[in-house]
Amino acid sequence: AKEGGRCQHRCFEPLMDAEIKRRSVIERELRETMLADGFRPYYQPLVELASGRIVGFEMLARWPRADGVEIGPDQFIPIAEESGLINELMLQLLDRGCREALEWDAALSIEINISPVQLKDPWLAEKILATLTRLNFPPQRLGIEITENALIVDADNARRTIESLKNQGMKVALDDFGTGYSSLQHLRMLPFDKIKIDRSFVHALDSDGDSLKIVRAITSLASSLDLPVVAEGIECEAAVQQLGALGCAFGQGFHLGRPLSIEQVRDLLRGCGDG
Ligand code: C2E
Ligand code: CA
Ligand code: CA
Ligand code: CA
Repeated sequence: AKEGGRCQHRCFEPLMDAEIKRRSVIERELRETMLADGFRPYYQPLVELASGRIVGFEMLARWPRADGVEIGPDQFIPIAEESGLINELMLQLLDRGCREALEWDAALSIEINISPVQLKDPWLAEKILATLTRLNFPPQRLGIEITENALIVDADNARRTIESLKNQGMKVALDDFGTGYSSLQHLRMLPFDKIKIDRSFVHALDSDGDSLKIVRAITSLASSLDLPVVAEGIECEAAVQQLGALGCAFGQGFHLGRPLSIEQVRDLLRGCGDG
């Protein structure tokens, strides 16, 4: 037991070192990949539930690596946030995403995700707008998704940023709705254009009666505030029917379309055009 006690002490530090090393390796690779414009936007369809029509795409960052493995955003966004690279990464993905979206029908929107730390940047809206102006991309086609957890950190900055994004013509969505500590407060205080119900509620629709009641309460609240609702994480047809009946106008999820590469989006939209 004496030995074990000492070991706990000795083994802890090498573990921390390993984690710090892992992060600094990823951070260096992140910088290199940004320099080489190596990140790729993927696009998940946003669908109008009543018609099944695609109304736009959410851009989701992917990091394709030389070894063929693709790294998801949960692995590298936190490191980009901590190392201060997130703004530049976002602008790079925005640039590529908008250029690719210009090929699509002009009625289709594109939505991007903003990190909580970016809400502190008083020039965020201007930086985004500079990219849109350079590409001649209409701000009305761009949606900005802000996760609810971001708002707890700094509601004042969030309000200023949301207002300036909206003043420039962009649409702002409250993402992961229902997972924060004061969801209703956020809706009351901040001028969102739509809300996205977190997929944890959608997932539990069948199995958990409370989730059904919560989704019903959210949609009725949203409708009285005139806010369209998007349900995330739809994985089966039953959920499409159920959510439509509950008053969700829009949906997103593997059943309606997985995140797609630009090549896959082109094929999909060509197919739609042919009828
Ligand atoms: P999110 O904004 O909530 O995006 C939805 C996530 O759910 C995506 O994961 C998507 O692939 C996944 N998803 C979609 N439909 C389904 C479904 O039916 N079932 C299940 N189980 N999952 C589904 P992904 O691409 O791994 O992104 C994870 C999170 O990373 C995103 O959550 C978003 O918060 C963040 N993220 C992604 N791209 C960016 C980015 O460019 N910038 C920033 N700041 N964050 C990003
Ligand atoms: Ca999102
Ligand atoms: Ca979400
Ligand atoms: Ca999420």
